Amino acid sequence: MAVPTPQTLTGLTLEELTDQLGSRTRALAAVRWLYAGALPPELPERIPGVAANAWAGVRARFALPRASVRERRVSVDGTIKFLIALDGVAVESVLIPSRGRSTICLSSQSGCTRHCAFCATATLGFKRQLTAGEIVAQFLIARAEAPSDAPATNVVFMGMGEPLDNLDEVLRAVRVLTQSPAPQLGAEQITVSTSGVLPGMQRFLRESSASLALSLNATTDEQRDALMPHNRKWPIASLLGALREHAAADPSRVHFIEYVLFDGVNDSDADAERLAALLEGLPARVNLIPHNPMGSSSLRAPAAERVLAFQKRLRGFGRLCFVRWPRGQEIAAACGQLALTARPEVRE
Ligand code: SAH
Repeated sequence: MAVPTPQTLTGLTLEELTDQLGSRTRALAAVRWLYAGALPPELPERIPGVAANAWAGVRARFALPRASVRERRVSVDGTIKFLIALDGVAVESVLIPSRGRSTICLSSQSGCTRHCAFCATATLGFKRQLTAGEIVAQFLIARAEAPSDAPATNVVFMGMGEPLDNLDEVLRAVRVLTQSPAPQLGAEQITVSTSGVLPGMQRFLRESSASLALSLNATTDEQRDALMPHNRKWPIASLLGALREHAAADPSRVHFIEYVLFDGVNDSDADAERLAALLEGLPARVNLIPHNPMGSSSLRAPAAERVLAFQKRLRGFGRLCFVRWPRGQEIAAACGQLALTARPEVRE
């Protein structure tokens, strides 16, 4: 079984490890060792339960991903933002503890391939795709700091990058994160968020049982074209059409619609009504995200009362709708704020 290069140990699936180590029993032992705690600093000569010669072969062929924490910022609300140096690039990942469980926000690219007007990551340009091994490494680094009463059970691909523009590696990372006996996350506990890359959405829905979140952020194509330029290629109707088509085939799967609220742009009663109409009949929950400030943009979050009024109006149409109040905003760890603000010198 050929493993795509340059893949690292944390990017290998259990099947690939079985192939590489010559037995499933050894692969299970290797996975238990590899995902027992934080990302190991190096590969030892022996690991428990794996024959020395088999392990030596894997050790010669696959390295651990190069991932080291350059900076760690802790917010008053407990959110921790990690600046992680990878091979030649840096990314940010966030640990978000809440009652009883923590969520880890992962990056899928260094920089981003899209140009959303409201997102700080877009200002960085695109550096490179992350490998699955690097994505899983971010998870291990952040998971090690989850409070003992709030273990990291949830993952969102809402950090830097457009996950569906790096779909092979994201699907591989999801496969690794959900594999038994470790790290063993539930597929529904993983949410991949997209700015609306239609072909990637269709493939993701076919191939993965993880959750999909569509960052809709507007109720007319005119609004959305201005906020997210790739909407011209894949307009609102085509994106919701893909979700509808999938819902017809698998009615039990619930999708998430992310809707960033911008003061005076997309937060009117008419927008709430249009949003309700657009989602009619679709099994989807709406998450409202008040815009987090970034850079010199003139976009602002609406006042809290407007956010709540928008939520109420949408709920009035029977739509499940939650507000994601910002977490870690003062350390620039909230949605759309990941832009290596702390250490400009590690942008390369
Ligand atoms: N590229 C993917 C994932 C990264 S962005 C996507 O677009 O979905 C994760 C979420 O943060 C998206 O819902 C996006 O709309 C939102 N977001 C981006 N910039 C933001 C900002 N400045 N304030 C609030 N939310 C923002």
